[in-house]
Amino acid sequence: MRAFFYRLNTARGSRGLSLLLLLASLLLPSLSQAAVIEGVRVWRAPDHTRVVFDFNGPMQHKLFSLQNPERIVIDIEAAKNQFDLSSLDLSKTPIQRLRSGARNKKDLRVVLDLKQAVKPRSFQLKKHGGKPDRLVLDLYDKAITTEKQIEVVQPNAKRDIIIAVDAGHGGEDPGAIGPKRLREKNVVMAISKELARQINSVKGYKAKLVRSGDYYIGLRKRRNIARDMRADLFVSIHADAFKHPSASGASVFALSRRGASSETARFLARKENEADLIGGVGGVSLADKDDMLAGVLVDLSMNASLEASLKVGQMVLDSMGKIAKLHKRRVEQAGFAVLKSPDVPSILVETGFISNPKEARRLATSSYRKRMARQIFKGIDRYFNSQPPVGTYLAWKKNGSRPQGDGVYIIAEGDTLSGIAQQHSISVAALKKANKIRGSTIRVGQRLTIPSS
Ligand SMILES: [Zn+2]
Repeated sequence: MRAFFYRLNTARGSRGLSLLLLLASLLLPSLSQAAVIEGVRVWRAPDHTRVVFDFNGPMQHKLFSLQNPERIVIDIEAAKNQFDLSSLDLSKTPIQRLRSGARNKKDLRVVLDLKQAVKPRSFQLKKHGGKPDRLVLDLYDKAITTEKQIEVVQPNAKRDIIIAVDAGHGGEDPGAIGPKRLREKNVVMAISKELARQINSVKGYKAKLVRSGDYYIGLRKRRNIARDMRADLFVSIHADAFKHPSASGASVFALSRRGASSETARFLARKENEADLIGGVGGVSLADKDDMLAGVLVDLSMNASLEASLKVGQMVLDSMGKIAKLHKRRVEQAGFAVLKSPDVPSILVETGFISNPKEARRLATSSYRKRMARQIFKGIDRYFNSQPPVGTYLAWKKNGSRPQGDGVYIIAEGDTLSGIAQQHSISVAALKKANKIRGSTIRVGQRLTIPSS
């Protein structure tokens, strides 16, 4: 290169040289520094497969599909692969194999040979929170229809109280990491499964896991899953780290729309809300553009569910206090994105600080996880026994044979006013009157009063 510039120098004079040197200094780094694939991971979720490529720096990529046979091709500019693609476990995925090769001398082509057609989507994540620059490829299964099944709620049934149990983090997002590489995502999964098992063993309750395996779900999606379950309560389970390893104790959080109630609350909310950046929600800004939060009606139901969240949270906290040290004696509040459900009471339970060696040791044992799950459920059970939702088995048990009065129906996708009225053997007019509905607009998640006929 030097000889080349020298010759130019003699031919065109020193002004030309300095311009060329400037150009060269701008161009050369990007030419010489190839983006290198240093790691690849595969996560299987119920409806899609996620492939994550770790790079040593930013990269540019293009994605396309080819048929006969089905393939996904990713072209990455000025890149190399240093990872053994044949070492990946591809069982339970639609991928037959991954391979890579050089293209145009400097570019890299990665090919995924598929067992069946998928719907691919790709995005890049910038270096963040100890994770390198990443290219994320989501392959959505085609066989699963996206149509939602409409559940029919039996108005007079003694329905179960539904608890959505959300194990925090997962997949790309390990959560906090404690001593001996103890990962929050695994600890909270074990506690969540145990909690769900205990809840399901009691008549009148049904627990459903929001996350059922080791994969990441965006914070907003977690709320939507709970709403789709028609959950009476959303419980997100965590075991976070704090700046100081001495910090210890369990805590319960509810949403605050004004500000955090303590420095720890603010710190943890910020960490938790960053999960989408680490776990990978491509193209979705963290700024909450939740249009559902706009209306006055939603505001009211948000206040009602916040009040319920604080009540159930306090009972869970008191119950956990019987076996664990408490970080704070009251439910704390902060702007956790995962708790922003307007109509499902939601709490975030910190089972302990994984950054505290003593608590990490306890959280690593199954006996402590079981006891922790039991105390969380005891608190939940105390709350629902004190005020069981109308139409549930618990309400029926509490009220005995007394008439229950008006029922509540939560609108699901595909519901119509006439359909709901028919289901409950009342007229559309009576239904509209009881709920002060003027037009015919209803929204998913809205609670309707069903007048007793
Ligand atoms: Zn967490």
